[in-house]
Amino acid sequence: MLDHTTSEITPRKALRVNPAKTCQPIGAMYAALGINRCLPHSHGSQGCCSYHRSHLTRHYKEPVMASTSSFTEGASVFGGSPNLRQSLKTIFQTYDPDVVAVHPTCLSETIGDDIPTIVKKASEDGIVPRGKWVIHASPPSYAGSHVTGFSNMVKGMVDYFTNKGEKKVKGQINILPGYVEPPDMRKLKSMVAEMGLTPVGFPDTSDVLDTPKTGHYEMYPPGGTKGEKLLTTGASEYTMAMGHFSSKDPAAHLELKGGVPFTLSDTPIGVQATDRFYQGIMEATGAEIPKAQLDDRGRLVDMMTDYQHYLYGKKVALWGDPDQVISLAEFMSDMGMQPVCIITGTPGKIFEKRLKAILEGKALMPVIAQKQDLFYLHQVIKKQPVDLLVGNTYGKYIARAEDTPFVRFGFPILDRAGHSYFPSVGYKGGIHLLTSIVNTLLDRQDRDAPDERFELVL
Ligand code: SF4
Repeated sequence: MLDHTTSEITPRKALRVNPAKTCQPIGAMYAALGINRCLPHSHGSQGCCSYHRSHLTRHYKEPVMASTSSFTEGASVFGGSPNLRQSLKTIFQTYDPDVVAVHPTCLSETIGDDIPTIVKKASEDGIVPRGKWVIHASPPSYAGSHVTGFSNMVKGMVDYFTNKGEKKVKGQINILPGYVEPPDMRKLKSMVAEMGLTPVGFPDTSDVLDTPKTGHYEMYPPGGTKGEKLLTTGASEYTMAMGHFSSKDPAAHLELKGGVPFTLSDTPIGVQATDRFYQGIMEATGAEIPKAQLDDRGRLVDMMTDYQHYLYGKKVALWGDPDQVISLAEFMSDMGMQPVCIITGTPGKIFEKRLKAILEGKALMPVIAQKQDLFYLHQVIKKQPVDLLVGNTYGKYIARAEDTPFVRFGFPILDRAGHSYFPSVGYKGGIHLLTSIVNTLLDRQDRDAPDERFELVL
């Protein structure tokens, strides 16, 4: 399908082909699902909401619930206040959530609906029942990406739930996991709990988007951070925020609002980023890293050494969400692999800056680009062929055109299984990732081996 992509790169400003991102409200919706008994509400037209829900459903293979203000021509011209009021009335009467998380789409954002004022009036008029919350974030889709939308919604959680001047609770720390999978969020909480601390992780989509089949449908699965828990975030002693793009703004807002100091760390994927995660918590709290984690670290390093001769010098192209890609590039570089091209669709110069700092002094500096698309990445690797592609499902067309091995990683993965069950964070997550990478390379080696070199033992 992409056989005609040329290697000649022509500068483009207004055109994106297969962008390495999607729109802000998808991230806002995903974050909102990480609150217990929360219904994300899309303030705009039905089509946006359907697209956002179906995109998440296709990735997680779980039904994603969300409501919409169902804009028609009238709301588009005169504003969506009546639609939102009616929506809130119906939502609380019919679906009984504890929290409604409102995010505008491009349309209502452009009209400029004042959501806080509409919600305040709805509360005064008794449309929002006592003891229930309506929160909101503003994720205009013509800026940023789904990662920005996620960050905005997490900041919205701080806005509505974090209280000032709380008495600190010893050993309680906030965990902002960033835009990662449900099993990652579960794993990060357990890594902190194993250190003898009390984590308040938010958002937390574990047990929401990876629920077991019980035979009973539950509109609100048991997972997600409870509203009551979110109200205690200002009482935490410290915040560990992961990922510059998805967690920095909410963490800074939490510090400002709740007086909780924070450390901003890279998403703990791979050895070094996980080391920094533990280091940050140890320095801030005095807690120790558990022996079981040190053992897992040793196993990961052992595995990296065992398979070094299959990994060393292998050229790789990476794309996806910036926080994940930054840590992944560092991990691959630690394994002796050579990143050739690293892109994200999410805008932000810190992406290039952070990667350059991490990869400084390595053999070759790769092509690094933010706000880019997969067409560009394809053109780069036409000139500098790679041994491996790592990124979301959209890369499968490039993998076929170039006959290059492909490890699916990130969001969205629409055509393979398992991504929402196995964590990538922590040392054990590194073992899982490394297994996928090595096995994919070995599959290709077997496929291409002549009979006399087709070995049983590798
Ligand atoms: S109109 Fe905006 S919010 Fe709706 S799907 Fe398109 S980019 Fe996303």
